[in-house]
Order: sequence, then C-alpha cells, then structure tokens
Amino acid sequence: MKIRILGTAAAEGIPAIGCDCSICKTARERGGKNIRSRSGALVNDDLKIDFGPDTLYHIHRNQLDPTLWKWLLFTHSHHDHCAHEELQYLLPGFAPEKTHQQLKMFSNACVQTKIESVEHYAGYRLSTTLIQAFEPLMLGPYQITPVDANHTDGEDCLLFVIESEGRRLFYASDTGWLPDTTWDYLAGKSLDLLVLECTKAFIEAEYTKHLSFTECLQVCERLREIGAIRDDSQIVFTHFSHNGNALHEEMEAAMTPHGIQIAYDGMVIEA
Ligand SMILES: [Zn+2]
Ligand SMILES: [Zn+2]
Ligand SMILES: [Zn+2]
Repeated sequence: MKIRILGTAAAEGIPAIGCDCSICKTARERGGKNIRSRSGALVNDDLKIDFGPDTLYHIHRNQLDPTLWKWLLFTHSHHDHCAHEELQYLLPGFAPEKTHQQLKMFSNACVQTKIESVEHYAGYRLSTTLIQAFEPLMLGPYQITPVDANHTDGEDCLLFVIESEGRRLFYASDTGWLPDTTWDYLAGKSLDLLVLECTKAFIEAEYTKHLSFTECLQVCERLREIGAIRDDSQIVFTHFSHNGNALHEEMEAAMTPHGIQIAYDGMVIEA
C-alpha cells in the first residue's frame, strides 16, 4: 500500500491563520516542510481519509485525480477533518454525475449529521454509511477496522486499521492516549506502518485529547510491548500545532534517534 500524507497540521495550520508567534514566523521564512496544511491522507489512488478545508489545495499541489476516489472515510467531525460544505462540489452541476455515484462515504453519526445538512442548489443530497468501532468493512481490496480514539466528548471519534495485500497500517489522528478497547484490539497486530498524531509536539500541555512527543513515545513503547509494532515497523508522526513549538528540522532531530519519521505535506510512504 502507498499512503500519501496530504496535510500534516492541526486545525489552524502552520503558519497558523492570524498568528505571528516565532514558530509561524520562522515557518513562513523557511517554507518547504515547515508549511503544513490541514489533515488528510490518500491510500493508493482510491481510498481517501478525511475531507478537510485544504482538500482542493492538496488535489492541486499533488496533481491528484479525485475522480479515482472510491471510498471516503471520516475520522471525526472537526472542521479540519470534515469541511462538509466542500462536499457539495462533488455533486452534479459542479462535477460529473459519476463522481458522486462512485464515491462512497463512511462516518460516525456526528459527521453524518453535518454531511446530510449540506444544501445543494439542484436538490441532491449527500449521504454517508454509519460505521462503528470494531465492525470491519470490506471495501474493494481493503479491510478496514475502525477503532476507538480518545479525542472529544459526545462523539465516537475513530481511527483506522487498514489491511491490504498482506500489509497492515494504522492511521491514528486525532487522539489522546488510546482507550483500553483499542489497546486490546491492537495486541499482536504487527503493524507495518503507524501514522500517529503528535499535535502537542514539544509542549506538555495538560490537554488530554491530543498527544505530545513524550506521550507518542510512550504509545510506541506500549505498542511494542503488546506486539503491535516490530523493530522494522515504520512510524510516522503527524498533525502538528504551532503551539507545540514544532519546526520540522527540530522535530526531525529529536525523533530520528528513535527511528521515527516526521511527516510533511505530500509525504509518500510505501507500507
Ligand atoms: Zn485535527
Ligand atoms: Zn503561531
Ligand atoms: Zn479533532
């Protein structure tokens, strides 16, 4: 499987909208891997994860063909992962009929409510199939198992274990320390690739619905202990906030000794 990490920032982006902190200023000056857009990923050419406000920019920047997308999985309803109003542009009048017919969407109930609220001038309605943690889906060549995140109250936020062609990856954004249900599921899973959020980066904020480097390293240690990652599993951290004091070069210097890669926008990983 090939996964492209299309957006690697937390909700406000880096540089953030309206911010002149030293991280945002330096990111503006340095450019390159320090420029981070809102979250999203693409597995091979047909399985899309999340549809945030920078999706069109991702399509343009990486010369993606969204008419190849067959399945769209949503992790949760936060705006940086579900810019639901953008979805209307997949509908007839803005796009050929086949685009809308081909792309099947899967989400929790909060995302479903947002998506079903989208008004389209020609009367088309968007719909999504409800999915639940630990109820696997077979979508073409993929077996997808949603698992519980620990991210926001009042919503069943999901992370995804994706299996295809004998390979297994775990896409884990957004979450705090994983819930027991998810640890239990991951035991012995021997992941080939872990993509893990690290929103707080260098700052140990008390907020428990995202992870810092220290916490991410603890997650990796536990995943190793329970046989969910091996010495040769690839580990990539993503979803960084400027509040985490997160310049790409510094994060890379801190994590390379641990064998961990720092995601950047457009990064392609063979899992
Ligand atoms: Zn997010
Ligand atoms: Zn800033
Ligand atoms: Zn979120």
